[in-house]
Amino acid sequence: SASIEIARVSKVYDGGVRAVDAVAMDIRPGEFFSLLGPSGCGKTTTLRMIAGFDTPSTGEIRIDGADITHVPAHRRDMAMVFQNYALFPHRTVAENVAFGLRMRKIDKATIASKVKAALAMVELSGMEHRRPAQLSGGQQQRVALARAIVISPRVLLCDEPLGALDKKLRQQMQFELKQLQKSLGLTLVFVTHDQEEALAMSDRIAVMNAGRVEQIGTPVEIYDQPRTRFVADFIGDTNIFRGQRVTMDHSVGIAVGNGLVLALPAAAAIAGSEVVSVALRPEKIGVSPGSTPDVRSTGVSARGTVESTNFLGGAVLYRIVLDGGQRVLAQQPNSGAGPLHAPGHAVTLGWRPADLVILE
Ligand code: ADP
Ligand code: MG
Repeated sequence: SASIEIARVSKVYDGGVRAVDAVAMDIRPGEFFSLLGPSGCGKTTTLRMIAGFDTPSTGEIRIDGADITHVPAHRRDMAMVFQNYALFPHRTVAENVAFGLRMRKIDKATIASKVKAALAMVELSGMEHRRPAQLSGGQQQRVALARAIVISPRVLLCDEPLGALDKKLRQQMQFELKQLQKSLGLTLVFVTHDQEEALAMSDRIAVMNAGRVEQIGTPVEIYDQPRTRFVADFIGDTNIFRGQRVTMDHSVGIAVGNGLVLALPAAAAIAGSEVVSVALRPEKIGVSPGSTPDVRSTGVSARGTVESTNFLGGAVLYRIVLDGGQRVLAQQPNSGAGPLHAPGHAVTLGWRPADLVILE
């Protein structure tokens, strides 16, 4: 496995579309690294430049420290798995998997044993003589994976490889791909627009937006400490408040309108700006029944009315309108009784200042 350095890489297509804009990332050997972002943010373009199918307009790509920016794809020792699998329909499973080895002019006996081993790894032993049309979507995906790993690449690149699978199968494949990557010690760059998938699989994630990297971090960092409004919004549900910095009795808060003041975490007291945006995850907000005495001045609670409830199975999501007019999402674990607060009921919300995340 290899390290990959992407050093201020930009890609401007003919016609002037800046698909990738000064992207920088250091991917470590053996890392499961995801590029996550909405459609059109430049994920595929970034992956294709790593693979060598596209050339950066500016910037450098290095593998284990060596500049490969202009090395052709077939000499990069990488393999790529595509969303549509790109299998050869008229060839058998074994022939599909053998393709990369044939191109490398490896002898027949070695090819046969490597193909067998790769198919065993993706649990497709016995399927050698089938054709792609005789396989399920999940099995076709495994063939594509076997075809990629059979050449023992230094780097495996996957562009939304599980996008076409239904949810159950997708979760199973997520688990298996991760196991395979770890057992082979492969450096894997994984493209997805699905935040749950990225959180579940990755060692680290680069969140992309409009050609740029917004944040790079572990799944926990990306979820718990989003740096920007885009990241906070894109990864899971979140409440975002924006307001003017104010001094409170013993701390600093932000006034978010109509008398509602939120106490800021202690570390924020020293930060500079006058206007502050914060994110607060729905599951960090407690919901209790009734309208308790007004304790807004402490900055850690607010009164409101339930607008709607959403039963999610393991949890209940409440949409609540605060007395100040702000709409808030709060999520509670399902206690076994479903929603405890019905639409129209008065509730009091509570949270800890430490759970407010200051955004840039
Ligand atoms: P993603 O994979 O995140 O959906 P892409 O990397 O495919 O994003 O595309 C990024 C941007 O570059 C989009 O605006 C897309 O329309 C544009 N783009 C992609 N490929 C080309 C191309 N060959 N020529 C011109 N523009 C392109
Ligand atoms: Mg894409």
